[in-house]
Amino acid sequence: MLAERMKNFSGSQTSGMRNRARKLRAQGIKVVNFAAGELDQDTSASIKAAVRKAVDSGRTQYTDTLGISELRERVAARTTQKTGATYTPEEVGFTAGAKQALFNANFVLFQPGDEVLIPSPYWVTLPEQVRLAGATPIALLTADNGFQIDLSELERAITPKTRGIILNTPHNPTGVVYPASVLEKISRLILQHDLICIFDECYDELVYAPAAHHNIVKVVPEMKARTVLIGSLSKSYCMAGWRAGFFAAPQPIVKAIANLQSHIASNPSNLVQYAALNAFEAENDAFVEGNRKQLSAQRATALQMIQKIPGLPCVVPEGAFYLFPDVSSLFAKSFKGERVENVDRLAAILLEHAHIAMVPGSAFGSDNHIRISYAIPEQEIVAGLTSLSNFVQSLS
Ligand code: PMP
Repeated sequence: MLAERMKNFSGSQTSGMRNRARKLRAQGIKVVNFAAGELDQDTSASIKAAVRKAVDSGRTQYTDTLGISELRERVAARTTQKTGATYTPEEVGFTAGAKQALFNANFVLFQPGDEVLIPSPYWVTLPEQVRLAGATPIALLTADNGFQIDLSELERAITPKTRGIILNTPHNPTGVVYPASVLEKISRLILQHDLICIFDECYDELVYAPAAHHNIVKVVPEMKARTVLIGSLSKSYCMAGWRAGFFAAPQPIVKAIANLQSHIASNPSNLVQYAALNAFEAENDAFVEGNRKQLSAQRATALQMIQKIPGLPCVVPEGAFYLFPDVSSLFAKSFKGERVENVDRLAAILLEHAHIAMVPGSAFGSDNHIRISYAIPEQEIVAGLTSLSNFVQSLS
């Protein structure tokens, strides 16, 4: 019954693991959920109040496809501030989450025959969206380089078919942040080979000192003409379920995205646009700062605990809220007589027997790692990683 394009196309594994953990919880089993891709926290009171006001004042009609002008002005001003390059409201748009902005960008930029480079491991959705656009994602392996991009590897991967590269910093699932010097060198290659860059910085406000986030347009201003910047309110503003994302790009790309979206979903929710307008007010800066501080403490606890478990080396993450340890040393071992043969089996056994939900690295293009989100309460991190440690020790 289904179209050819849906063959071998499955749903997001991160959502799948969330659902399984939820099911176990519904059965009354206490599960520590390290699989979430969002903070375990409510949206700020002022954002909620702004939406109540929008409801009461009847903000219930369609809006312009890419958002009300006030919001586009605000996104443009923020992007200008972040990049040091001038962005007008016509060069930005608001979407139902960064996921929609990313899909739109892929769809209007890439086509069959095109190759698009993606550092691997990658956030699960990135290569799937390239495929949905009919193009071919090409993985750039980073695991042997501390999850940083190896520039000679990147140069080798560029062919006459290469059209673009999708960068994500701070990075999901590894937590690495790309240094300015690396972004500068990548930019030179992009300019030299006439490529397009999709730059996903959804976690830009969640970086832990002394590390700092770097925006590719800020590092190399010429990149403005060939970059689509992607942002989200899901993470730092605890608004994942509201679906609030935005993008900035050269005007022809923005126009194509507006045309596409006008036939798919029209505008993102009118009410959520008022939530976003409020989120961008200075009064929410302290909320974001508080979230960052809390995550920083949770990161320290999680990292310290994982580092004490023998055989699970872990690159120190500088941003986002994930640990991505190498668990391959466990694959030669057995749990109650059963070989832990691969990371999928490991995640299944951990959920079933240790009652901890983690996303297997296979979802992110890496069969040797597992993703642990530490955006959960401190006591749950301690309980869950103690269970993990006990589980590892119980293997024979
Ligand atoms: N990019 C990355 C790297 C992400 O991790 C996520 C969310 N998990 C998104 C984009 C999508 O975010 P949103 O909720 O705004 O659609």
